[in-house]
Amino acid sequence: MGLRKIINKVLMLEILKGMALTFKALFRRPVTRQYPKYKREPFGGFRGLHALTRRPDGDATCVGCGLCAAICPSKCIKVRTTTGPDHKKIVKQYEVEVLRCLYCGLCVEACPYKAVVLTDIYEYSGFTREEFLMTKDKLLANWDRFAESRKKSYFARFWRPLLSDFKGSAEQAALKDLSKAQRHKDIYIEAGR
Ligand code: SF4
Ligand code: SF4
Repeated sequence: MGLRKIINKVLMLEILKGMALTFKALFRRPVTRQYPKYKREPFGGFRGLHALTRRPDGDATCVGCGLCAAICPSKCIKVRTTTGPDHKKIVKQYEVEVLRCLYCGLCVEACPYKAVVLTDIYEYSGFTREEFLMTKDKLLANWDRFAESRKKSYFARFWRPLLSDFKGSAEQAALKDLSKAQRHKDIYIEAGR
């Protein structure tokens, strides 16, 4: 054992260093968030509780095409339609089984009418499965709860990274390891889809 190690052992330097660290932490600003008194602002693109957007007349924007239900990997969306007196399709039932949802967001991406969204609402709980069965009325109410300021920018940003988030395509994770020529080819293919 070297002299340095012997001095360390005799003077218990490691223990003193540890105690000093603990003492310093006593005066540091606490990092614990006092939830629910202080709530965290979700990041842009956070995928929370589902909602159905409203048309200006207040009804659901959904036209009942069923694309969201078809693409949903966990098959937790149910859409039923009926025909109105003027032969117009009416959405009779729109349900999401929230407990089965993966929050993948494919339904949002598939919807051609921007009718279904994943809001930034993260506070929802319940004791029964029924409470997590989101009916059309509940989904419309969720849209009303969704912050007005977020509604405006939701479809502009959503969770997909925008080109403006990167200085150039070279910074995008998916394209990082590709050569410059390959990157341009991929972007070209992407744009031509
Ligand atoms: S987020 Fe994904 S799993 Fe959830 S309802 Fe939409 S498509 Fe289905
Ligand atoms: S939410 Fe969109 S994709 Fe789903 S049925 Fe309605 S219009 Fe179609």
